[in-house]
Amino acid sequence: MSATTTVRRTVRNLADGREIIYYDDTPGAPPRTTDDDRPLPERAAAGHLRYDALIGDWVAVAGHRMNRILLPPRDECPLCPTGRGSIATEIPDPDYDVVVIENRFPSYAPVAVDDAPGEAPFEHRAALGRTEVVCFTSEHDTSFRSLSPRRVRTVIDAWADRTARLSQIPEVEHVFCFENRGPEIGVTLHHPHGQIYAYPYLPARSREILAQAQAHHARTGRLLGSDLLRAEQADGSRIVITGTHWTAYVPYAARWPVEVHLAPHRDVPDLVALDDAERDDLATVYLDLLDRLDRYHRTEDGGPVALPYIAAWHQAPVRQGREVSRLHLQVVSVLRAPGTLKFLAGSESGVGGWVNDARPEAIAARLRSLAD
Ligand SMILES: [Zn+2]
Repeated sequence: MSATTTVRRTVRNLADGREIIYYDDTPGAPPRTTDDDRPLPERAAAGHLRYDALIGDWVAVAGHRMNRILLPPRDECPLCPTGRGSIATEIPDPDYDVVVIENRFPSYAPVAVDDAPGEAPFEHRAALGRTEVVCFTSEHDTSFRSLSPRRVRTVIDAWADRTARLSQIPEVEHVFCFENRGPEIGVTLHHPHGQIYAYPYLPARSREILAQAQAHHARTGRLLGSDLLRAEQADGSRIVITGTHWTAYVPYAARWPVEVHLAPHRDVPDLVALDDAERDDLATVYLDLLDRLDRYHRTEDGGPVALPYIAAWHQAPVRQGREVSRLHLQVVSVLRAPGTLKFLAGSESGVGGWVNDARPEAIAARLRSLAD
């Protein structure tokens, strides 16, 4: 945690042993000391990570996730503080600012069941790692976009703190902070929250990004992420927001109906490396971007359309290629027009051949026009 912010970190355990970590920024916030006395079943063990020999990738098979709670009524929200609804929730205390909880239905878990290793071509291993839920606020009926810059800064500090700590787990190879927003993206809980996955391997797209960065560095001695940002800044036609320490732009080869990347001006591998000024500016620029995204589409009578989105933090892998990797945030939406979604259909799902109906320059021009 940085020296100039006053975020109080409190680590506790839930009834089944899972960790809950409070990040409180409200001056005088009461200590978080309430015990979780729910009669919880034993925590889930890690599922299987199966090797897909056909394309050389891994797939986590987590059957217990079928029992997840799907879109519960408001007074049974498991991410509201206990006492606001009709149930004892995942958060025993009556309030919080930002809180991180180990996922009750994890794709990756720290404890493995005994299992004989599989033999080729049916190789498998335990899906060791950790998955966490980040509650951005104790308020149920709001969204990330409506948080104060101060609270967004606390979320950024929580992401960075979790990245640093999860990176210390021996089997963790990659830490991914993300937010799925909107039922169109498959969100199962309405409460404003994101997730963190700590993977025991480098996922496919992260591996591709690393391979490109390594090849570029071998060829030029420079960072690909840095060269791409400079090229976008020099071109200008896809720039959306220029902050003090961050620039938002639509990438030249955007794949989604709406896609924006947010990159720091300084070469940093991950969120942990951001200094105070960069974190504060990120809060400002990101809130500006999210505000524009929620005004990107209009209903027929001119009303705003809350944009479903995926916000994905691309950080350096934990144990390889850190010297060539560069942090950036990728925000994408499947919403082509109000009521019309882009499906990952034959070309994209079958062979990974992307087609985008939206010109990246037009996406950028629309987002620039939405400045306050
Ligand atoms: Zn809630």
